[in-house]
Amino acid sequence: MNRRRLPSEFELIARYLAPLAEGFEGARGLGDDAAVIPPASGFDSVATVDALVEGVHFLGDDPPASIGKKLLRVSLSDLAAMGARPHLYFLTLALSEKTEEAWVADFTSGLAEDQKTYDITLAGGDTVATSGPTTLSLTALGQVPSGKALARSGAGKGDAVYVTGTIGDGALGLAVLNGGCAGLAEAARAHLVGRYRLPEPRTGFGEGLVGLASAAIDVSDGLVADLGHLAEQSGCRATVEAARVPLSEAAEAALGGDRDLLATILAGGDDYELLFTADAAKETQIQSLAGRHGLRVTRIGDTGKGAGVQLLDPQGAPISLGRQGYRHF
Ligand code: ADP
Ligand code: MG
Repeated sequence: MNRRRLPSEFELIARYLAPLAEGFEGARGLGDDAAVIPPASGFDSVATVDALVEGVHFLGDDPPASIGKKLLRVSLSDLAAMGARPHLYFLTLALSEKTEEAWVADFTSGLAEDQKTYDITLAGGDTVATSGPTTLSLTALGQVPSGKALARSGAGKGDAVYVTGTIGDGALGLAVLNGGCAGLAEAARAHLVGRYRLPEPRTGFGEGLVGLASAAIDVSDGLVADLGHLAEQSGCRATVEAARVPLSEAAEAALGGDRDLLATILAGGDDYELLFTADAAKETQIQSLAGRHGLRVTRIGDTGKGAGVQLLDPQGAPISLGRQGYRHF
């Protein structure tokens, strides 16, 4: 491992960042003051920004490549929730004094891999030193046909509520990293930690929801909290049958060992799945879209008159959870 301290800002940009911008001419090789982005006719630009702080969102000894990927993927998940196709991103690196060149090399190698996976290119950014913890911020731009971006506010009353993938793995993965779920088999623990470290944004599927979904949101704060945001913006109530919420085998095993983990699963964060509503008559189209993307999509409930989120047990009785999702303050 190269223990050398950082080279100059300009060397860092030339060595590790300029190669990531090669696919986009408007980035001008990161040699200009700003990027130039030609408008795409017939499309709206969708922009989103996320930040990760060392000690809050990642730990100093987490693998840097997966930190880079997570930083990019959380923004890609927002684009997916808007129905947008990834296009470009901007990156702010505020690097702590103890950052080594090897960290930057590994961090940017993670970004390089994900640029290929998700077809997105670096277009610019800023690089600074900080006396505080390393702080990373990424702005992602996507494209969606004009006027067609999905919204949290579009759910009707009587729509079906769906979720992609499985819920709870991210929050359980974090619990494992913090010493929880001790009785769980090693493979299950590894699965959960992997899901926490490397979310899989539902990029292509989100694009496909344009014209199908009435409202959408990505699950970052927790299923209950995020469904609450969607319900509030849409002016409706959402009812979820807790037993229908799709769980991975690892999450099932964790829950089997400790029923109290249901709150972590339903209210914990970091799933980065898509939660959306649609007219129930579109079920076949939604399932065939899911099939094309190799994705599981589960109907977990319905919307109706009223406000808030109601969780029901298999007998139809309301369940209350201790907490409603992760909040920073
Ligand atoms: P200025 O001082 O005018 O802001 P900089 O020296 O900060 O210019 O940046 C020079 C070029 O390098 C710009 O094109 C900028 O977008 C790019 N750049 C700097 N840091 C990063 C980064 N972390 N990621 C991507 N591009 C970067
Ligand atoms: Mg600068």
